[in-house]
Amino acid sequence: MKLLVVGSMALDTIETPFGKEDDILGGSASYFSLAASMFTDVGIVAVVGRDFPEGHLDLFRTKNIDLQGVTREQGETFKWEGKYGYDLGDPDTLGTYLNVFENFNPDIPESYSNVDYVFLANIDPELQLSVLNQVKDPKIVACDTMNFWIDNKPDELKKVLQKVDILLINDSETRALAGEPRITTAARAVLDMGPKILIVKRGEYGALMFSGDDIFWAPSFPLEEVIDPTGAGDTFAGGFMGYIAGQDITDPAGFKTAVVNGSVVASFTVENFSVRRLAGLTNNEISTRFAEFLKLSRVD
Ligand code: AMP
Repeated sequence: MKLLVVGSMALDTIETPFGKEDDILGGSASYFSLAASMFTDVGIVAVVGRDFPEGHLDLFRTKNIDLQGVTREQGETFKWEGKYGYDLGDPDTLGTYLNVFENFNPDIPESYSNVDYVFLANIDPELQLSVLNQVKDPKIVACDTMNFWIDNKPDELKKVLQKVDILLINDSETRALAGEPRITTAARAVLDMGPKILIVKRGEYGALMFSGDDIFWAPSFPLEEVIDPTGAGDTFAGGFMGYIAGQDITDPAGFKTAVVNGSVVASFTVENFSVRRLAGLTNNEISTRFAEFLKLSRVD
């Protein structure tokens, strides 16, 4: 296994202007791993409750996603309820029910400890640090976080940032972390905290990658069919890290291609609720959309 993700597996209740669905498969590790599995071998460390359908686990198995690190506990699965407005921008969180996630203490299976690529999804920075203590010498560690941890565990988060290579967050998180409203200045301040690369996810406005003095931007694909934006960020991260792990990327052009792959895979996720679009996604669809993507801003 080349790539490990530690994060949430969830049952989401989602309302968008196009419908409402109850208790559908969600969670950062779910979106991330399904996206990454299009490019490399991926394994999950997460916890689910007794109500988590076995059929969901079968979906991951059909994609050859390693589930050794997924434990099933007594109690209910983590649940999140979100509602999106007409602009399909940031959702209102209507409920967060931690359930078995409350006592999540990631235990990395011995067979994963030599993994080369690690993604720490949005979990308590103390748990992110615990994961880093359990893996030996990964080539690249990337992580996500959210405003809640920026506000409530800033010291622990700063320790994580000193140990990771890549940070993937959205623009409000970038501003909050840096305490600076201008995105480019904020990005520089975040890079000074440790990561070599910062990816700022900007929803329908695409993703910006900052590294050293370089800035690279990939747009979001202009879709006719946006139904549910949930998981776009985690899917982006899965496509990005999956491509890097699958190809052992070390060069700047490779990282740029990884950003485009992240944007391409995320563009499919939002076309339906939950992971439905990812579940049936083919490599051919990815390469076709990748080519359309490149055409978006070419002038000849
Ligand atoms: P995204 O839209 O990429 O930010 O990811 C949405 C997913 O994150 C949903 O499927 C939720 O189940 C999951 N999620 C929401 N809140 C949290 C949280 N506090 N911790 C972990 N996962 C969460």
